[in-house]
Amino acid sequence: MERTILIVDDEEIDRKILGRMLGNDYNILYASNGKEAINEIINNAEILSAVLLDILMPYMNGYEVLQILHADKVLSQIPVIVTSTVDNDEDEVKALSLGAKDYIRKPYKTDIVRHRLANIIDFRETASMINTARKDDLTGLYNKQYFIKKVEQKLNTCPDEQFDLLCFDIDQFKLINDNYGIAAGDKLLRYVADIIKKDFPEITISSRFGADIFYELVSRKVEYTPEMVKVALEKMEDYPLPIKIKVRCGIYRISNPSISVSVMCDRAKIAADKIKGQYGKIFSYYDDTIKQQMVNEQKISDMMYNALKNDEFKVYYQPKYSLETEAVAGAEALVRWLSPTKGYLSPDKFIPVFEKNGFITQMDIYVWETVCRDFHQWISDGGAPVAISVNVSRLDIYNPELIDVLLGLIKKYDVPAKYLHLEITETAYTENPQQLIAIVNELRAKGFVVEMDDFGSGYSSLNMLSEMPIDVLKLDMRFIQTQTKSSSGKGILSFIISLAKWLNLAVVAEGVETKEQIEVLKSMDCNYVQGFYYAKPMSKEDFYKLLGKSITSEMICTNTSVCGISEQIRLMPAQNYHVMLVIDDIDTNRKELSKIFGGQFAVIEAENGEIAWNYLEKNYDKIEI
Ligand code: C2E
Ligand code: CA
Ligand code: CA
Repeated sequence: MERTILIVDDEEIDRKILGRMLGNDYNILYASNGKEAINEIINNAEILSAVLLDILMPYMNGYEVLQILHADKVLSQIPVIVTSTVDNDEDEVKALSLGAKDYIRKPYKTDIVRHRLANIIDFRETASMINTARKDDLTGLYNKQYFIKKVEQKLNTCPDEQFDLLCFDIDQFKLINDNYGIAAGDKLLRYVADIIKKDFPEITISSRFGADIFYELVSRKVEYTPEMVKVALEKMEDYPLPIKIKVRCGIYRISNPSISVSVMCDRAKIAADKIKGQYGKIFSYYDDTIKQQMVNEQKISDMMYNALKNDEFKVYYQPKYSLETEAVAGAEALVRWLSPTKGYLSPDKFIPVFEKNGFITQMDIYVWETVCRDFHQWISDGGAPVAISVNVSRLDIYNPELIDVLLGLIKKYDVPAKYLHLEITETAYTENPQQLIAIVNELRAKGFVVEMDDFGSGYSSLNMLSEMPIDVLKLDMRFIQTQTKSSSGKGILSFIISLAKWLNLAVVAEGVETKEQIEVLKSMDCNYVQGFYYAKPMSKEDFYKLLGKSITSEMICTNTSVCGISEQIRLMPAQNYHVMLVIDDIDTNRKELSKIFGGQFAVIEAENGEIAWNYLEKNYDKIEI
């Protein structure tokens, strides 16, 4: 960065000498008397690094200039070096007492002038850096800007030492913030900052970059092991919250100090993100595979626009079957990328990249349009309609045009809204529940059916389920595959399915691969299944061929197997369920009881003995009265 200085001297020759000495290092402004000097200083106060001020000048001398500057809060911050031929201590003292930072005698000696000027500028910049907030208020660690500066300095001053840059990230911090409040989150951040300061060996410089991300510069270790941070880990485990506190650490080994520190930080963060959600992993190194991955991601980003233009994205359909009748009750649309250069690409390869770079919004709209067009054609050819679900990325939710886009598409292709189901992943619900609820409510009001995707994969609580405006619950594949194995797992699965039904939700189990899983799910009264056991995702042609020769049924989304269940259940927090079953054939009697007891109980109404019996048989253990 080129710094600017002001040279003030009434003698042109002296201005020229200084100008020549310093012209290579600085951008120079000139003034030939005190008045001009004040003008220049006022006009350039923000960019001036220093002033070289001659004392003996006509009109307004150097002392007067110093006095004016000294009296002003802002201008007095600009360091002034006084220059003079007068060789007497009294003058020097006078200048210094008026705020001059240094005193240089003429004739000038190049090296002395340059060094004194550089030192003073450096001193002032360091001082102002210290003054402008360099610490994070909450934890007392350095903030981002200051950390980066300190690391740069350290790397410059110790070129022979080796360092690693570490990034610490608290697992599920957001969840803690959401569930226990900001104050609890702040307290935890201070606690973790303390551990990082005290119990992590040989930290040189530490910082917090906002939220729950900490960065540290440490002397190179050959290897990082959990034993090295035993005390720290124990302290975190002891933290008095029901959620276990875990911190992940990404490590970037600094081999090339010319890479900018903020890029180093990004790399350490990438390494930390790599082990997100991996149980028991604490340390992760940034390495060339990550670099390779970034190169690949870049390639994908470079190719995506053309891919969209050239129709390289294909929509496949995976049927959903009714467990009761084995009829095809719907399908999920899944995207594939058939690239002329890279061949067939599965969504796992490119969806995360598109979610990072934002392209997902465009691609999803393309998929939705393809689905609507295919549906329209199938109906025009006389086919029986089944609902098709499309994936709505969490990023799409924040697209202000989302609802208009969807309405536009169903209008253009004449698709009744109820046949377009929207799958929104569970984690989107935990991320920003308020905004999501508002949008989902609006979508449902327009007639779209909303399915919560991947339920059981994230951290949403059952409590939350009762508050979410959804129609269908899709149980995550991993959840099915693990929970159908053990008897305790089966207990959990069966509980969730009955809870979902209680909430009037249809249940789709995803990733069903075996006959055993089917049997387990059937015994629990799960409604629909999707998985390799019945069918893999297939091309449009194959799907409509399959539909043509299968029995089909419309997906029933407002569950009717539980009669008359009150909407109130949805609104009540799950842990407060006390169910009252009211059996009465007279409608007004039931309503009256509902009204009286609705505040304390979830009131289930049955209008005859048979309905009551059906309900009792399945739910006898849940009824209070
Ligand atoms: P998802 O929404 O959870 O989709 C289900 C995935 O499980 C699909 O993988 C499907 O092929 C696979 N699957 C279905 N049955 C089985 C089974 O029995 N066993 C196993 N092992 N797998 C099964 P796919 O097609 O690779 O899609 C992966 C993910 O990519 C999807 O997960 C979804 O999150 C995303 N995705 C796919 N298409 C789109 C799209 O058009 N838009 C958006 N935003 N995301 C999409
Ligand atoms: Ca899905
Ligand atoms: Ca899913």
